[in-house]
Amino acid sequence: MPIDPTLPYDPDNIFARILRGEIPCRKVHEDEFSLAFHDIAPQAPVHILVIPKGAYVSWDDFSSKASDAEIAGFTRAVGKVARDAGLVASGYRLLANTGQHGHQEVPHLHVHIFGGRQLGAMIP
Ligand code: IMP
Repeated sequence: MPIDPTLPYDPDNIFARILRGEIPCRKVHEDEFSLAFHDIAPQAPVHILVIPKGAYVSWDDFSSKASDAEIAGFTRAVGKVARDAGLVASGYRLLANTGQHGHQEVPHLHVHIFGGRQLGAMIP
């Protein structure tokens, strides 16, 4: 079910629990501002999620409230994870589902990185 973006941040959402180490993940990157791990139900040969360490529900929340350092650190982490996964030469897709119409299911901002095969054309 898509999240209700009007609700406050839920500190017990699954990605908050992964950040606290309460639930395991297949980690590929961690730094001061971000954590990246393999999606549990991959939709492509490479399907990695990158999340900020701060408590942000969505892209809207993050882009309006995070510090410039958090935004820069997170953005650089997304690029580094894609590079380290070997996706640059062939290309990849970034996706941040946001709120109900975006069909966001986990209420902690995450950017999907998809790659490793020819992806289809974007269908709204
Ligand atoms: P959304 O629809 O953009 O919110 O996507 C949520 C993503 O989180 C989906 O691709 C799920 O497969 C993924 N996911 C849910 N729980 C876990 C988990 O425990 N570990 C890794 N990925 C997860």
